[in-house]
Amino acid sequence: MRFHVITIFPNIFDSYLNESIIGRAIKNKHISVVFYNPRDFIKDKNKNGYKPVDDKPYSGGPGMVMKAEPIILAVEKAISKIKNKKNKILTINFIPSAEKFTTDFAKTISKKYTDIIFICGRYEGIDARVDKILKTKKVSIGDYVLTGGELPAMILIDCISRQIPGVLGKYESLEEERISSSEVYTRPEALKHKNKNYKVPEILLSGNHKEIEAWKIKAN
Ligand code: SAM
Repeated sequence: MRFHVITIFPNIFDSYLNESIIGRAIKNKHISVVFYNPRDFIKDKNKNGYKPVDDKPYSGGPGMVMKAEPIILAVEKAISKIKNKKNKILTINFIPSAEKFTTDFAKTISKKYTDIIFICGRYEGIDARVDKILKTKKVSIGDYVLTGGELPAMILIDCISRQIPGVLGKYESLEEERISSSEVYTRPEALKHKNKNYKVPEILLSGNHKEIEAWKIKAN
């Protein structure tokens, strides 16, 4: 799976993509992540010597809107770099009020597509004509508003990558394919804190797998 990220802040991704399971997945070539900065697709500098990716909104109001052209050019560049034209490409734009991202969606698109392009908005969002021209899939990660689409892109990269064979090691198999619990314990068996003992539930020490699974379902 190849991820292509359209962002004016590519450095935000550095530490997350270099560590742990996702870092290993990139090193082992199970996934790749390439960045395209819309600012690189603006020819003219303004009077301050700056290449603006945003402009004032029509109809007035506060904030700035990201211009359509540099984003479209960045996406087109990403598509032109995808060598095999048989590849299946999905372009995602992040919108807080759109359909919510889920593990089921991650599963489906991990099987259906070879290349996913993420458009990371900033400010008041992106000129809406981008969605019409690029026929994007609009996705939200939850009912709250963030300052940009970079965190949503990282969340989708993480969740979709987990679905790709080889990304998770044998100790990290997919939770959704087995009975897992949000209530988990490790050593010591009795944890002493401020003169009180906190014990691991007896059932987890019993070796009775059927009862342990029933306990896990109940604990969720
Ligand atoms: N004015 C926009 C609105 O009312 O929908 C919100 C813009 S938000 C400040 C800036 C960018 O952050 C958005 O374009 C989107 O890329 C991203 N973003 C913010 N919250 C998000 C969420 N819950 N899910 C997905 N993307 C989000």
